[in-house]
Amino acid sequence: MSAPTAAQLDAADPLARFRDEFEIPEGIYLVGNSLGALPRRTRDYVNIELDRWGSLGVEGHFTGDLAWKDYHELVPEQLARLVGAYNDEVVAMNALTVNLHLLMISFYQPNPQRHKVLIESHAFPSDHFAVESQIRQRGYNPSESLITVSPRPGEDTLHKDDILGAIVEHGNELALVMLPGVHYYTGQALPMSEIAEVAHSVGARVGFDIAHAAGNIELQLHDWNVDFAAWCTYKYLNTGPGGVGCAFVHQRHIDNQMLPKLLGWWGTNPATRFRMATEFDPIPTVESWQMSNASILPMAALRSSLDIIDEAGGISALRRKSVQQIEYLDRRLNESLSGRVVNLTPTPMHERGCQFALQVTSGNGREVFAALEEARAFCDWREPDVIRAAPVPLYNSFDDIDRFVTILEDVVA
Ligand SMILES: *Cc1c(COP(=O)(O)O)cnc(C)c1O
Repeated sequence: MSAPTAAQLDAADPLARFRDEFEIPEGIYLVGNSLGALPRRTRDYVNIELDRWGSLGVEGHFTGDLAWKDYHELVPEQLARLVGAYNDEVVAMNALTVNLHLLMISFYQPNPQRHKVLIESHAFPSDHFAVESQIRQRGYNPSESLITVSPRPGEDTLHKDDILGAIVEHGNELALVMLPGVHYYTGQALPMSEIAEVAHSVGARVGFDIAHAAGNIELQLHDWNVDFAAWCTYKYLNTGPGGVGCAFVHQRHIDNQMLPKLLGWWGTNPATRFRMATEFDPIPTVESWQMSNASILPMAALRSSLDIIDEAGGISALRRKSVQQIEYLDRRLNESLSGRVVNLTPTPMHERGCQFALQVTSGNGREVFAALEEARAFCDWREPDVIRAAPVPLYNSFDDIDRFVTILEDVVA
């Protein structure tokens, strides 16, 4: 039996109809790893809030099921399902880098004996800057306190043994491990559960940046015992440019009043908040990390996106299709581009999400990328030499993948 064609795979795809739920730029949109496509219904969700603002004005804060003062309470249940958490462990607020800072304020507690933070050498610059500035802020020096784990010479992705080994090596000096769930450049998914276990065994805390994991792969943040996590929603969660960020704090830390925390009025008991008293009475959930009242329009876009994901059957249904799409793209690349285009992403399925990190080995990568752009195959270029392409199961078809490879064959030839 020959392998199924794109048309056969699309015909058998239970999620195929969701493509029509999105407005997608003309061409082949394989860049949902950078900015997810626009769900059509987001216009409605946002318009409802604009209409409520127009007709109710300030009363919108207190009126109806969508009252803005409680609006943030509408999303945790769906967010929790998406990342494998309990409702009281997740909150949508601020933006990703801001949340990393707020969580490091709580979970990076250096002392002269234990002050090191472990990250990876190719960390997303914003994460690197955030960690470096947190170290300085506490009076330590990144040249001593910031340690990195790298791929082995000549390799592109990290070995699990090297990560776990570095954690053990720095053991009693290690305060925090902060790593990506899925790497933004290579697309490598890290073994979060094992990392958390080993980090805890040496007495360190562990946080994950799951910007490229949320909405892409299945996560069990609670069961993996992760201390904290943060992510953005404009990538695989399709909330639009600058969409609201999210944070996870494990239940076991939520009631810990000893954790340092930056406070604001949205973290205090809503029953007494508007008495404007100055006694902080923390909400008994991760919402006690909230500082400001929620940005309603981006939150409306998030609700729209989470509703679509639930309708599609949640992250497990998305991942099921994603695995088929990954296998299909692997197969197509092997058939016609083997030796000319190399995917840096690990091959085993548990070590990858939907993003491919393609390196052009015969010819000039930048020129190939420019030719792809010319042909309206949307991918993105990441220095020094990778073309990232991500088939997103909610709105990309197998036909998109097929046409992408056909164009790539053409431009590489
Ligand atoms: C996308 C991304 C960011 C972007 O941070 P913002 O605060 O949302 O601008 C940061 N870190 C990682 C790992 C990312 O993938």
